[in-house]
Amino acid sequence: MSSAPITQAWPIAPRIQSLIDGISPALRAGGTDLPIVNPTTEAPISVLREADAQEVDAAVMSARRAFDTGPWPRLDINARKDILYAIRDRVRAHAEELAWLECTGAGLPLARVREQVQRTARVFEFFAEVASTLHGEVYSQSKGWLTWVTREPKGVAALISPWNAPLSLASMRMATCIPWGNTCVLKPSEVTPLSVRRLVEILHEAGLPPGVVNLVNGRGSVTGTALVDHAGIDLVGFTGGTATGRAIMTAAARRLVPAALELGGKSANIVCASADIERALDGALVGIFANNGQQCLAGSRILVQRPVAAEFIERFVERARRIRVGDPLAPATEIGPLAFEAHRDRVLSYAAIARADGARLLTGGRRAAIERGWFVEPTAVLAPSNETRVCQEEIFGPFAAFLEFDTVDEAIAIANRSKFGLVSYVWSEDIGTALRCSRDIRAGTVWINTPMMRELRAPFGGYKESGVGRDGPAASVDFFTEQKATIVPLDPPPVHRFGA
Ligand code: NAP
Repeated sequence: MSSAPITQAWPIAPRIQSLIDGISPALRAGGTDLPIVNPTTEAPISVLREADAQEVDAAVMSARRAFDTGPWPRLDINARKDILYAIRDRVRAHAEELAWLECTGAGLPLARVREQVQRTARVFEFFAEVASTLHGEVYSQSKGWLTWVTREPKGVAALISPWNAPLSLASMRMATCIPWGNTCVLKPSEVTPLSVRRLVEILHEAGLPPGVVNLVNGRGSVTGTALVDHAGIDLVGFTGGTATGRAIMTAAARRLVPAALELGGKSANIVCASADIERALDGALVGIFANNGQQCLAGSRILVQRPVAAEFIERFVERARRIRVGDPLAPATEIGPLAFEAHRDRVLSYAAIARADGARLLTGGRRAAIERGWFVEPTAVLAPSNETRVCQEEIFGPFAAFLEFDTVDEAIAIANRSKFGLVSYVWSEDIGTALRCSRDIRAGTVWINTPMMRELRAPFGGYKESGVGRDGPAASVDFFTEQKATIVPLDPPPVHRFGA
């Protein structure tokens, strides 16, 4: 991966609009424009025209037509796969442009964003391959009968994604949905629309038929609710916070459509005395500070076994103070600005919350000394107990909460005393300890001696309030396709003749 700076800037339209049937709809008088602001400079970049209920209706109708009568669900799988591969290639060809848009719009550091752009390309390729090996079942055990089971696309999906990794999360939603022949309407976060809007254009430039992916922009309370409540939607795929997930599942239940939810986390990172401490230290720093700390899978509760705790925490703090915070477009930057001002303020408010709960501020807890931008110093606190708010609430920023423990059983119990259960991290060179943690921690993913390796072939999702359902080949097939059983007699069986 290149470590060169991006020297070019790409044009940004003065007004960002929805994309329906592959084009921007005509601007209607009296619509709402929302500001789009660069989190690094605090300068306005553009405005976002919010999609109201009428525009959402047009988007859903476009997806409906594309599903009910359009070519996409009826295409030969090789033709569909060719288009998904063309998307992969075009994303790669525009990788620097997409990376620049993501750094500019979301403040994520360039090195991280370049990886996320490559993963965006990869997920379209990966799920195209899964779709091309999709197969059914045949049952012939009942004498004289043959039954076969086929998979069909489920219909029109509402897909909703957050601002913390706009490109990779929106692409995951789309790439798990459309390969089977579904169509969709995507609503990304209105805070970070730039990269996703360009990605949806790229999908069309690569040959995706109009109407398969429609994009509507706007706030959750306006555009999001209009979308989820729309009668033309057959299913909902959501990535975001737990409170919103609950509202979305309620709305989906009212219409009796399925919803898959990828939600928040407060994941434990357990560092045992038996760990390779150097690697555990690097892993703990990556676990909480990557992606500006704005990640669902952050290892935000760092549990350290008492014999090694003091030294581990001291070294962590020393390293945290040396993290390069600054312009996300500079290749050496490790942490950029938080995505928007209110979020920066919310993250910082946890320094006072921590103190009020008796936690000790070890470092950070204030704005970084940079003139402009929503920068926060990498922060760490030592909490007196797992019951404090900094250990129970998702802060979603560069904010680590340390806890100390004596026995591995105690660490597992602490890890599980959370309403969340997305991921967990365990650092130990003792195989028995590592395997016991894997068995007993209630989380969708357990990483042993590594920070956040995402295996696309494996299911990803959360226990408890971290989600409902999984992303991954098998889970996505189950969620995004219907099963149909067709039953035929091999010898015509006698049929009772009513009234004969
Ligand atoms: P959020 O506030 O829940 O918003 C997510 C998306 O839902 C946004 O597009 C939002 O629009 C929209 N929305 C809000 N209310 C809605 C409603 N009533 N109906 C329909 N849509 C609605 O989450 P966020 O703050 O953007 O993202 C951070 C959260 O996402 C964190 O909790 C994080 O852990 C979670 N996350 C989970 C995963 C995972 O894979 N498990 C991955 C990444 C992030 P607005 O922007 O207008 O609010």
